[in-house]
Amino acid sequence: MPRFDPIESLARVRHEFGEHGGVNMSISGSTTFTVLEPGTMPKIFGGLLGPDQGGCYLYGRHFNPTVYVLGRQLAALEGTQSAYCTASGMAAIVGAVLQLCNQGDHIVSGAAVYGGTFALFDDYLPAKTGITTTFVDPTNHAEVEAAFTDRTRVLYVEAMSNPTLAVADIPRLSEIAHARGATLVVDNTFSPLVISPAQHGADVVIHSLTKFINGASDHIAGVICGTTAFITSLMDLHMGSLMLLGPTMDPRTAFNLSMRLPHLGLRMAEHSRRALMFAERLAQLGLPVVYPGLPSHPQNEVLLRLANPQFGYGGILALDTGTSERAFQLMEELQNRHQFGFIAVSLGYQETLMSCSAASTSSELSPEDQQRAGISPGLVRLSIGYTGSAEQRWQQLLAALKATGMA
Ligand code: PLP
Repeated sequence: MPRFDPIESLARVRHEFGEHGGVNMSISGSTTFTVLEPGTMPKIFGGLLGPDQGGCYLYGRHFNPTVYVLGRQLAALEGTQSAYCTASGMAAIVGAVLQLCNQGDHIVSGAAVYGGTFALFDDYLPAKTGITTTFVDPTNHAEVEAAFTDRTRVLYVEAMSNPTLAVADIPRLSEIAHARGATLVVDNTFSPLVISPAQHGADVVIHSLTKFINGASDHIAGVICGTTAFITSLMDLHMGSLMLLGPTMDPRTAFNLSMRLPHLGLRMAEHSRRALMFAERLAQLGLPVVYPGLPSHPQNEVLLRLANPQFGYGGILALDTGTSERAFQLMEELQNRHQFGFIAVSLGYQETLMSCSAASTSSELSPEDQQRAGISPGLVRLSIGYTGSAEQRWQQLLAALKATGMA
């Protein structure tokens, strides 16, 4: 079978022209939709008519035509039957997980996940729903298997973990989940295009679209990709997490994100090219750099097996400076004296963004949980941008390392 190519798959989605023949689709900025005959309405409510059965729309918290187009494009990008967008990445995570788990059910999750996801699983869900989570090292498959109980419904991992950049062996994890009747949910926020989790056995793929897929750090957004049956279930009038919790994407956001998909491949390739170049040079200096594209990375073999090679190995690297004081000193030099990038959370922006994970986006984890997840106090996560020239940026990075005595 020819290897899945996400860019070719995206190009096969029917192009949506706008009203008046515009080359770009129009924005359906309506919250409610008319029907020609009153008898149509009960059919839409009964699920007999919808976007894919007669093009009928009802109400913007259900399906909106512009948001639906973006969903079709993202489903093509991940190679799933369907997808639907949400107001944030967190909304996508909570929507998917609540759809799959009932009160008292159980999740097995990677220990190194985004701090908000960790807090959702560790604090919020047990208190509000009785859904509990066992956190594991997803690269230790015996530990993953041993964590399953007869109430486990979901195995949850990040394809490339935040911030430790461990790469999940998705085919193996999917075997483990499926043998126990569980659903493998993969957050692919760090590695869009680089890894196509659904092609390797993931059942549901989630993104925070806030990051690389959008690329301009100007919209908070998310998506859930999966089977048509699963996406439809999210919109069920009685039991649909998206329909009833209501984390709806605005159609104007959907339009803006859709405009950025055609150059996502170019952007990812350049993020990755520069991240690899910097990682190789940092390694040559003998610095403790973490980058899944380096042969020294513990899951480099897994990534080479899973990655779509034309997009490189991802745009994020991490540097362990040892202590939070050194991390802060380095970031201060990088931002305030050498203009290498910005001290900011988030990732996937055109400029380099850097943060000390233990003190920011992983601070929801206790020091013990951070240690178990492999997040050291001085770990600086760098989301490598593509402005300026690569050589110019390397000189800035090198100067900051020298100023802090690290090089
Ligand atoms: N997943 C990962 C891996 C993240 O890094 C983040 C946010 O940083 C999220 C999900 C949550 O996304 P959002 O901020 O769009 O809700």
